[in-house]
Amino acid sequence: METQVYKTAELTKKYLETCRLEAERFLKENGRKPCLAVVLVGSDPASAIYVRKKEETCRASGLEALDVPLDPSVGFAKLQETVRELNARDDVDGILVQSPLPKGWDERLIQRMIDPRKDVDGFHPENAGRLFIDANEALKNGLPPCTPAGVMEVLKEAGINVAGKHAVIIGRSTIVGKPMAAMLLAADATVTIAHSRTDKLPQLCRTADILVAATGRAQFLTADYVKAGAVVIDVGISRLELPEGKVKVVGDVNQPEMMHLAGFLTPVPGGIGPMTIALLIRNTIRAAHNRVAAQA
Ligand code: NDP
Repeated sequence: METQVYKTAELTKKYLETCRLEAERFLKENGRKPCLAVVLVGSDPASAIYVRKKEETCRASGLEALDVPLDPSVGFAKLQETVRELNARDDVDGILVQSPLPKGWDERLIQRMIDPRKDVDGFHPENAGRLFIDANEALKNGLPPCTPAGVMEVLKEAGINVAGKHAVIIGRSTIVGKPMAAMLLAADATVTIAHSRTDKLPQLCRTADILVAATGRAQFLTADYVKAGAVVIDVGISRLELPEGKVKVVGDVNQPEMMHLAGFLTPVPGGIGPMTIALLIRNTIRAAHNRVAAQA
């Protein structure tokens, strides 16, 4: 069986071009660009790379990116104050606080503090609740979490009908696993969520028509986990340290073992990661439009 390895470069480009046109329209109508504030606490190298990529994509798509670096020495209270200030600013449409935060800082509290109308990551309980009440509506009009929303765009674009299919999601985080389940359920898949305590994981995964891997365990998903012809979505991102200080980015999936086994595979890098950023840009523009409409 030929495995379709689906790189998202073209889809991402098309998606961002639509965003660019929408941002242009917003500028014409409102006299300012949609604006995303990106808060980075500390200098974790991987986080710094993600933040730079997000800000670059923002600017290339006609949005404003407000860079808000904080030194961990300022303390958690300063981060809270920063979020309050960004909530109050009329020229800021989206707020993203890059994770992970320093040890002991309450990430969930920060997620609750961000104004839900500016919550472009979709982690605020109001947005999470909206997603669980009606994921189709949230995907259409709300601020859904970017990574699973990106997966849904890929499935749609690739013409993969999920209705009636068994989808197994490995991972139950609030960022990926749980919202992914809500979205696939709303698309009429039969959904199973697996995690580190799941018994007989390979056997369970082999019953999946659609397998979404989101654990962060490098290349653990081998042929043993996959039914012939299955759709395999690799969300994981791990950095493998190679000799001479080099780093290789890999996913949860052992890609060579998928060849001629899976029917469809999103690779890492070049798969879900770029779509996640595209959805972040889309959410920011949507937040900008929604805020203006609410003020009218
Ligand atoms: P978390 O660490 O929050 O969650 C990982 C999940 O995987 C947990 O539910 C955990 O189970 C489960 N898990 C861990 N080990 C196993 C195992 N051996 N068998 C079965 N399940 C296991 O991670 P995130 O959800 O935030 O991210 C997951 C991965 O996706 C990471 O690699 C991350 O970098 C990547 N990611 C990629 C994004 C992108 O843009 N493409 C965006 C966001 C994340 P338990 O709950 O029992 O501990």
